[in-house]
Amino acid sequence: MTEDLACPICTMADILDAGDGYECATCGHEWMAELSDGLDDIRDANGNLLASGDTVTVIKDLKTDGKVGGIKAGTKIKSIRLVEGDHEIDAKVNGRGLLIRAAFVKKA
Ligand SMILES: [Zn+2]
Repeated sequence: MTEDLACPICTMADILDAGDGYECATCGHEWMAELSDGLDDIRDANGNLLASGDTVTVIKDLKTDGKVGGIKAGTKIKSIRLVEGDHEIDAKVNGRGLLIRAAFVKKA
């Protein structure tokens, strides 16, 4: 399991994604994503490293937990956000926030 992402300077966990790195909302410290030991490497179905902000394509039909509808294979998802847990991708599809497993997508 991964640790919570936290600022290396002030240890607060209010972290902003600054594209290729992170910015602490508390003290303003910025650092590169590579130096963070927060999230484990998250890879898509082809083994490519995923990053927050990537666009991915769903490779199989997915059911959404207990809700009507789902995501069809081939659906493109823009600006994913990586999160902790066994569903590593926090995505917005048709206006709904969904959690998706990285193994079910490939980088677009
Ligand atoms: Zn800080």
